[in-house]
Amino acid sequence: MKMRYYLLPVIIVSLMVLVVDNDRSIVNKEMVSDMIEISYPFFGNDKIDSYINSYLNNYVNSKNLDVLIDYDYYDDNGMYYLTFYKYILDGGKISSNSDSFLIDISNSSVSKIEDAMHAYDFVINRVIDSDKKLVALTFDDGPNYNTNKILDILNKYDAKATFFVLGSRIKGNEYILEKMRNSGMEIGNHTYSHLLLTKYSEDKIKEEIDRTSELIFTTTGRKPSLLRPSYGSFNKKIKSASDMPIIIWDVDTLDWKYHNSKRITNRVVNKVRDGDIVLMHDIYSATANALESIIPLLKDKGYSFVTVSDLFYCKEITLEGGKVYGSAR
Ligand code: ZN
Repeated sequence: MKMRYYLLPVIIVSLMVLVVDNDRSIVNKEMVSDMIEISYPFFGNDKIDSYINSYLNNYVNSKNLDVLIDYDYYDDNGMYYLTFYKYILDGGKISSNSDSFLIDISNSSVSKIEDAMHAYDFVINRVIDSDKKLVALTFDDGPNYNTNKILDILNKYDAKATFFVLGSRIKGNEYILEKMRNSGMEIGNHTYSHLLLTKYSEDKIKEEIDRTSELIFTTTGRKPSLLRPSYGSFNKKIKSASDMPIIIWDVDTLDWKYHNSKRITNRVVNKVRDGDIVLMHDIYSATANALESIIPLLKDKGYSFVTVSDLFYCKEITLEGGKVYGSAR
């Protein structure tokens, strides 16, 4: 993953050099500040290049942080669009945002695009204290009316979680997915129609997965990177159909069975260990009510609430497509 990430700007620039006229060829330029090296397009136009250089310098100098930057650059009817994506790593905090510019080479002008269509600003602000014990709460089968309540509770405690959504429930609930994204929650794929996939062909399995990933992407601007097959069931076909890691759980709240918030709370609080993944369902009121107690009780025991991807990242486990994970231990 990391290799590809760093290669992307090189590939983009190589393509641009091929496409753009020789007299305005764009080459990769590097700026090195104390600890930071950033590659960015160089236009061979003094006014434009110094604008971009000072933008980057101001940005870097205003943050005493480790910064990773990559960019997207393309032309559209003679106008050029350049977007910098910034990933800021500050201790355990990772945040991300982007800035876009419209570049008119023939008039030597650059203007910042305030509301860029091609830029998305997902607020992550994940605060992870790696000295703490970590748990990933996961919520399946939404979104529905109850998901909002769950999100409000998580936000109240600044807790992050992962929602494995059903593609068939996204239509009409797009704002809930946007709220998840804007609250720094992770959105995973729980298939389109919740079939027992082990009974179906690999083509059908792929269709169930891809349809949902597409919907999540068109709604939130991000493709999911985790799959939880319906019923948590998997076999060879499902593993081979999935490019994504398959995330199951090791603490089952049985919330769907008992609808008893006290029972759900006790089960989670007594069972959870550092690195666990907890299965819940955001479609039940009992689950939301239990969450109100679970978060403060586990906080008292020294737990932080992280997304599944962050859990594995913090535990230094690399997730691989088609492999099954039930905890990060
Ligand atoms: Zn489910």
